[in-house]
Amino acid sequence: MLNIVLFGPPGAGKGTQSEMIIATYGLRHLSTGDIFRANIKGETELGQLAKRYMDKGELVPDEVTIRMLEAEADKHPDANGFIFDGFPRTTAQAEALDVFLNGKGTMIRCMISLDVPEAELVTRLVKRGEISGRADDNEETIRKRIAVYNAQTLPVEAYYQHQGKLHKINGLGSIEDISDRIRSVLAAFA
Ligand code: AMP
Repeated sequence: MLNIVLFGPPGAGKGTQSEMIIATYGLRHLSTGDIFRANIKGETELGQLAKRYMDKGELVPDEVTIRMLEAEADKHPDANGFIFDGFPRTTAQAEALDVFLNGKGTMIRCMISLDVPEAELVTRLVKRGEISGRADDNEETIRKRIAVYNAQTLPVEAYYQHQGKLHKINGLGSIEDISDRIRSVLAAFA
């Protein structure tokens, strides 16, 4: 099984590059942000809870997020592997993911971390907000999400670095250039 964590701040291009990785390697995409948004749209109880945090740019509590992610992964027992997009976002989530995958006799093979300077992230997200209409793509919430990323999520990169699994990628340039950089890292695993 090829299990990959695609990591980076909001606006780094995780969603876009996930599409390329799925198409190239046939992996199952698990985006916690997408699952939360589907729950908000479906007006589920989980969606209502998640929305309270997402609208403020804060993280949804670990317990809820981990339980949801595991339930989603369990829906695909025959997957060739998973691409985790937007998860784990805390060290507690990373530890829970290791335990979960170990229980299935598998593990995370590598983390691809997309590196993009903060000014560029804000520009990209403001632009995305104009097109997507995502409620959390407004400047105030964007700044908050980046601050939350730096405080709570960045330690996850060190977590995988200690395991020798971190691959940092320059996230600036054309989509195709960035895809090429990712493909050259993943060539060693596929
Ligand atoms: P994203 O689509 O990945 O940018 O996520 C949008 C929002 O969903 C985040 O700002 C958080 O409020 C919430 N969220 C997504 N993934 C997680 C996670 N792994 N842990 C906690 N909250 C999350």
